[in-house]
Amino acid sequence: MRVLMIGGGGREHTLVWKLAQSPLVDKIYCVPGNAGIGGLAECEAMNVEGALEPMAQFAVDNKIDLTLVGPEDPLANGIVDHFESVGLRVFGPSRAAAEIEASKVFSKELMDKYGIPTAKSETFDDPQEAASYIRKIGAPIVVKADGLAKGKGVIVCRELQEALDAVNTIMLERKFGDAGSKVLVEEFLEGEEASFIAFTDGKNIVPMSSSQDHKPIYDGDRGPNTGGMGAYSPAPVVTDEVHDLIMESVMKPTVKGMAAEGRPYKGVLYAGLMIIDGKPKVIEFNARCGDPETQAVIPRLKSDIVPVIEACIDGTLDKIQLEWTDGPAVCVVMASGGYPVKYEKGKVITGLDAAGAMENVTVFHAGTAKQGDDIVTNGGRVLGVTALGNNIQDAINTAYEAVKKISFEGAYCRSDIGHRALER
Ligand code: AMP
Repeated sequence: MRVLMIGGGGREHTLVWKLAQSPLVDKIYCVPGNAGIGGLAECEAMNVEGALEPMAQFAVDNKIDLTLVGPEDPLANGIVDHFESVGLRVFGPSRAAAEIEASKVFSKELMDKYGIPTAKSETFDDPQEAASYIRKIGAPIVVKADGLAKGKGVIVCRELQEALDAVNTIMLERKFGDAGSKVLVEEFLEGEEASFIAFTDGKNIVPMSSSQDHKPIYDGDRGPNTGGMGAYSPAPVVTDEVHDLIMESVMKPTVKGMAAEGRPYKGVLYAGLMIIDGKPKVIEFNARCGDPETQAVIPRLKSDIVPVIEACIDGTLDKIQLEWTDGPAVCVVMASGGYPVKYEKGKVITGLDAAGAMENVTVFHAGTAKQGDDIVTNGGRVLGVTALGNNIQDAINTAYEAVKKISFEGAYCRSDIGHRALER
C-alpha cells in the first residue's frame, strides 16, 4: 500500500514513523514533511493550508492508496470531501464534520443541544456587547476566537482588563483574521486537564490511551499558551471510572449528535477536557490528533495502525481492539528561543543521532529542515523528544537525558513536563 501523509510537524512524523512499521505499507509520501520525516518518506514541498487540487493531483500521480491528514486547516478546507470526489481513499472528517473544531460556536451549540457537559458561555459578534457581558460576569474568564487560530485564539484572563483587551485583540485588531468575527466568552473552569482522543467510524468509537499536554510556555504553567510544550500518556487523572464517564457523557453523545445533524463524523475525534471532581467538561473538540499528545500516545500503541484507519473508513471499527504498552511515555518539546512570539530559524541542530540511539527514546521532528548535510531549525517547535519508561519518573528522566544530548542555538524546553502525573 502507498500512503500519503499531509502535514509536516511532530504529529505527522510520529504517524509516519508508525506507518513505516506496518507490514501493510510499502511506500510513504509526505507533503510537506520535515527533515525527520524525510528519512522515512518521500517529501514534497507544498502549501497544505492552500488549494486542495495540487495535493489531490499529487496523490493521483503517485497512485496513493490511502491519505492521512495531520493538521486542522486542510480538514476545515474540505480536503476529505475533495479527495473523495476524485475517487481517493482518505482518512478524516468531512468539511461539515470538521466544523466541530473549525467553529467554536458550532461546537458549543452542538454540546448544548445534546447535553454534553461543557463550560457555560455566550457568543458575541459585537465587541461592545461582549465587553459589557464580561464586566457583568467579572474575571477570571476565558475569551475565545470562534475560528481556527493555530491553537492561540484562546485567552484565559485572570483580570477583567485582560479580558476586555482580549476582545479588542480578537474582534477589532483581528489578530486571528476572520476567525475573530465572533467570540465566545466562557466560564473559567478549574480542574485538571486531559486529552481524550479516539478513532471513530461515525458509529463505533475506539479510544486511544489518554494523555495530557502542557500548553503554557514556562514551567509551572505560566506565560502565554503555545501549540504545546510537552505531553505524557496515560493521564493518571483519567481513571477507569473517569474514562467510562467520558465515553458515556462526551464521546458517544457527540458522535451520535453529529450523525443526527447530518454531519457523520469519521476520523479522529479529540476532546480537550477539564476533569472537575472526577467529572469531565469539554473545553474544546479537535478534528484530528493532538500535537504533541500524538508524540506521547502513538509510541505506546502496540497494534498496527493501518487496520484501525481502514476500519474507520469502512465502518467496521466494532471489529478493532487496540493494545497499548503498560508503561507511560513522556514527550518533551524543544523549541526555538523566543517562541511563541518571535524566533529565528536556520540554527544547526547537533546530537540527534546520540539522543536517538538511546534505548526507549525516539526524537520526532517538528520544525526542522535539511540544509546541505546539516539539519537546521525551521519553526517554533523544533523537536519532540519522546521516551518510554517503566513508570512516569523513569520516562521523564530518560526524556530529559536525551534532551541534554541535543543542542542548537537558543534551544528552550520546559523542565517540568509530567509534573502533574508525578504529583499524583
Ligand atoms: P484550547 O485551545 O481551547 O485548548 O484552549 C487552550 C487552553 O486554554 C486549554 O488547554 C486550557 O488550559 C485553557 N482553557 C480553555 N478554556 C478554558 C476554560 N473554560 N476554563 C479554564 N481554562 C480554559
